[in-house]
Amino acid sequence: MKVFKFGGASVKDAEGVKNVIRVLKHEGFNNTLIVISAMGKMTNAFEKVIDSYVYKNDNLNNAIEFIRDYHISIINELFSSEKNAILLEVEKLLGELSGFFITNKNSDYNFIYDQVIGFGELLATKIVGAYLNENHITTKWIDVRDFIKTDTNYRDARVNWEATKANIAKLDTTNLYLTQGFLGGACNGKTTSLGREGSDFTAAIFAYCLNAKSLTIWKDVDGVLNADPRYLENTVLLEQISYKEAIEMAFYGASVIHPKTLKPLENKNIPLYVRSFYNLNLLGTTVSKGHNLAPEIPCFIVKQEQILVSISAIDFSFMVEHNLSDIFKILHDYKLKVNLIQNSALSFSVCIEDNFGNFQSFISEITMNYKINFIENVALYTVRHATKNAIELIEQKGKVLLKQATKGTVQVIMQ
Ligand code: ASP
Ligand code: MG
Repeated sequence: MKVFKFGGASVKDAEGVKNVIRVLKHEGFNNTLIVISAMGKMTNAFEKVIDSYVYKNDNLNNAIEFIRDYHISIINELFSSEKNAILLEVEKLLGELSGFFITNKNSDYNFIYDQVIGFGELLATKIVGAYLNENHITTKWIDVRDFIKTDTNYRDARVNWEATKANIAKLDTTNLYLTQGFLGGACNGKTTSLGREGSDFTAAIFAYCLNAKSLTIWKDVDGVLNADPRYLENTVLLEQISYKEAIEMAFYGASVIHPKTLKPLENKNIPLYVRSFYNLNLLGTTVSKGHNLAPEIPCFIVKQEQILVSISAIDFSFMVEHNLSDIFKILHDYKLKVNLIQNSALSFSVCIEDNFGNFQSFISEITMNYKINFIENVALYTVRHATKNAIELIEQKGKVLLKQATKGTVQVIMQ
């Protein structure tokens, strides 16, 4: 069995959906499982829907209309004969969504988020599935929530591997399956999600449980580059990356591969191919056992919108174990992601990411016992296989606020 994953950018419009067929015909699609995530930027659009519902602003209907129109215009371009059946499917799903808004009594934001966000994936797979079937590529559409089982840690659900393995083992590997990325099902019957950009992880879970011979992630780029072209010029395609190196890169925030994706693949030695959806003749990047990095060049990872916080004790006492454990607990309680730490006698600096809008509450709590300074909107640059030139390239970009070097890896916080 092999696993293919098509992300939002690959199926952002009718051309993209048509291109899925081109890829399948070129690569062969026997014994394949396809994972698809929401079309284009639809997950962001659903986040707007969620906010409109939760914060009761007037835009809820507009936000839903935008999503409806987006999908319908793709359908109009794709289908001629079977159009009504798929339009009905879309209305059925949107009807379910409205039904949730009417009946829901739970006010937990994360719970609501997960009940709504998954409609992007459901719509995408319904549309792509119908289009493939119309073009005589018969797929079996499966609801991922029946297979990937998780706890109820909404928006960042943890996989119950035993249950998931048992469910996936029931699949008949001679089929061509089509399923949604990023979602899970909790044992209370509710939808969960694996965290933003979690569809790669979904694909890896299936690859692992199916003992797949490979996982291919189809992208709108040629493969994994040594830097994000939005921030650095003259990027170079990485041809081969070892699992270990890829895990390091993902850990530091390389966005091409979701961090959780790699471990299941490494455990079973399943190669990951990151390939261009447009140019099928390119080999892209292989992540597998073998060469650590080829070509061996510095790799740059940039994380924007970081907050550099420096924390010290009110009474000028040293920042030692008990303060640090206190601070980490509070960081954890507010779900602030820590991307770098540096400690000195009187202060403790930490570079954090506020993915859940909790920073203000964190400050209120921490200032009860500590003095803090912070600078918002800084960038964290990580250079793997750093060279002198590579670091200079970063330092030219602004003011260096903090720098830390460990074997081969240099991190710089820039304002
Ligand atoms: N659609 C989800 C997101 O955009 C999951 C994914 O694309 O991987 O975060
Ligand atoms: Mg997506």
